[in-house]
Amino acid sequence: VPDSAIAHPQLWPQGRSQGLVNPATEARITALLAQMSLAEKIGQMIQADISAIQPDDLRRYPLGSILAGGSSPPLGAPDRSPAGPWIATARAFDAVARESRPGHVAIPLLIGIDAVHGNNNIVGATLFPHNIGLGATRDPGLIERIGRATAVETAAAGINWAFGPTLAVPQNDRWGRTFEGYSEDPAVVASYAGAMVKGLQGAPGKGTIQQGQVAASVKHFLGDGGTTDGIDQGDTAVDEGTLIRVHNAGYPAAIAAGTMTVMASFNSWNGVKMHGNRSLLTDVLKQRMGFQGLVVGDWNGHAQIPGCTATDCPATFNAGLDMAMAPDSWRGLFDSTLAAAQRGQIPLARIDDAVRRILRIKFGLGLFDPNRPMEADTRLIGAPEHRAIAREAVRKSMVLLKNQGVLPIRPSARVLVTGAGADSIAQQSGGWTLSWQGDGNSNADFPGATSIYQGIKAALTAGGGAAELSTDGSFASRPDVAIVVFGEKPYAEMRGDIRTLEFEAGEKEALALLQRLKRQGIPTVSVFLSGRPLWVNPELNQSDAFVAAWLPGSEGAGIADVLIGGKTDFVGTLPYSWPKTAGQFRLNAGQPGYDPLFPLGYGLSYARPGHVAALPEVAGLDASLANTSIFFARGKSPAPFRLLFDPSVAAYAVDSATTQEGANRLEWSGAGQVRIAGPVANFERESNADLNLQVVLRLDQTAGPVQLRFAGGAIDLAGMLGTGAAWQTLRIPLKCFVA
Ligand code: BGC
Repeated sequence: VPDSAIAHPQLWPQGRSQGLVNPATEARITALLAQMSLAEKIGQMIQADISAIQPDDLRRYPLGSILAGGSSPPLGAPDRSPAGPWIATARAFDAVARESRPGHVAIPLLIGIDAVHGNNNIVGATLFPHNIGLGATRDPGLIERIGRATAVETAAAGINWAFGPTLAVPQNDRWGRTFEGYSEDPAVVASYAGAMVKGLQGAPGKGTIQQGQVAASVKHFLGDGGTTDGIDQGDTAVDEGTLIRVHNAGYPAAIAAGTMTVMASFNSWNGVKMHGNRSLLTDVLKQRMGFQGLVVGDWNGHAQIPGCTATDCPATFNAGLDMAMAPDSWRGLFDSTLAAAQRGQIPLARIDDAVRRILRIKFGLGLFDPNRPMEADTRLIGAPEHRAIAREAVRKSMVLLKNQGVLPIRPSARVLVTGAGADSIAQQSGGWTLSWQGDGNSNADFPGATSIYQGIKAALTAGGGAAELSTDGSFASRPDVAIVVFGEKPYAEMRGDIRTLEFEAGEKEALALLQRLKRQGIPTVSVFLSGRPLWVNPELNQSDAFVAAWLPGSEGAGIADVLIGGKTDFVGTLPYSWPKTAGQFRLNAGQPGYDPLFPLGYGLSYARPGHVAALPEVAGLDASLANTSIFFARGKSPAPFRLLFDPSVAAYAVDSATTQEGANRLEWSGAGQVRIAGPVANFERESNADLNLQVVLRLDQTAGPVQLRFAGGAIDLAGMLGTGAAWQTLRIPLKCFVA
């Protein structure tokens, strides 16, 4: 595997893990290593998913860790189980690992889970706002308290390792994991990284953490938020300086805070997959930055290295991975890795180093301490004091984007609460909630939680007012004000990748509801639930007030705390820049040509009101083109290509997936047809280039005005061509690049 070797080692921050290494423990690890067989060492380096293994398997395959997957039911228990079965399952596996039997060195298990906004796979757990909302609070102290509460609820389910926090610095909002990153701003991520690690693990001590604390796993190292086009698991094509300054921003603080584990990323850096990148995993992370804990892989991430498969990949361990996440491939990977080690294909010193790091964490967690039984106290899950922290976080995460005199709402008001998200704890919680995608759950699946409607209702009832819920916006008697809750439906990872930032492209259900309320003269407050900023100009125009509420989690009451009464003011400010057009995917503060609708850090409050004028309602290259088809001719070249309009100029992306009959084609339904064709040479260019696209088009009599619209202006095609049946040719200069 070729390293995409770093060229400037001296530019990377130097550091050292704090509190992970203590001499007495290191001596015990040395003694254990001396007793372990090669198979036992290889076993430590492999993690299986709980759905693909039985406790008894550990007798033959002495694995080091189990992944308590969210979407996988523990040992036949129903997926939506309360914590009890989780604990029983964890105990059943751990008991086998700790068993004393001949020829076996008893080593307790690391049991990991995606506790990324609270211990979110467990029914009844406190669900904190997703990281994007926490980014809006700019409050590291709050982040630390959230980490502590999350650790308590995770340990309470018999689990000792949380796969978080995510330290991605998302640079392209098309990415489906944007909401898992605190901010587009590296400084915000850096200020939170250490706080969350301390919250989960406790302050770095003498190598052992306390009851109610779990190991953290900062992820995904490195460059997950920088992939081209925001494609999940894609390639981060940036120079070393950007990798350090932007994407590595959170890691030094996390290492200094003693993070026990780091998760390698699925993405590549300049073409080389991180799971096989020795230069970054070993030379940078472990040596230069002094990380002394364990590097765990991501879900079969090793399989993406050229020459590797899920069940065979010595290269990843040689690159510096200490433990592979081999959810369903664990048996094959164990066999092949053992064979490779026996052949000398993975040096013994590398294996011993990996196992030492793993055992260091197990000692650090107190797992070898006979007086520290597995913590498991389900009463701590969803505890009122944790819910209070989550509710505080919801209040602080809300960002007020517009308020034309409608907020705060009088506690005695009669309020219509409407919109698809009004009474949906699943929607307000987003992905990574009770299952991977967070979909398919009803309010009954969230005991102890409060929907946004329920929170509003409670506040108004207490104030002498009333709330009426109506998902379609109909109402019995005229309300004083309407709160419309709408936004993105839950998603996780690549399923959340999108092509443009236009909210509800082609659907406009929420917009229609807002328009209806406006026609009826009802003042409206929009509460927008989303995992990223989206282009919502039409919805903003129709709303008297507009609140970005992100993905607030289980404590919907926090929303009412701020909207009603006015005693609690807005403090949240934008963690990501808000786009002016649907094509501003890579809108990040400080970049040339930065022209957001609302800049990073924007946020109104009752004390600081502001006025938002009517906004343009054209998403980008579109609106009036909505009734046309556009073809990108591929010419004679058989090579697949991707043509992207530079988002600062235009707004639509086309890729070879849309190829049809030799033409790359992006289609809008409807009447007229527009064909855009360019010489093949232009499409094949490697670098950004100005491109004269040839547009061959025909406008029929019914097409009406047709414009190509860009952030920078519009080209009135109809005006240039008139209407008529004949094909006509136009040259349009566009700034394009080939990806
Ligand atoms: C994700 C990780 C997660 C892991 C385990 C992967 O697909 O990228 O963030 O921790 O799955 O569920």
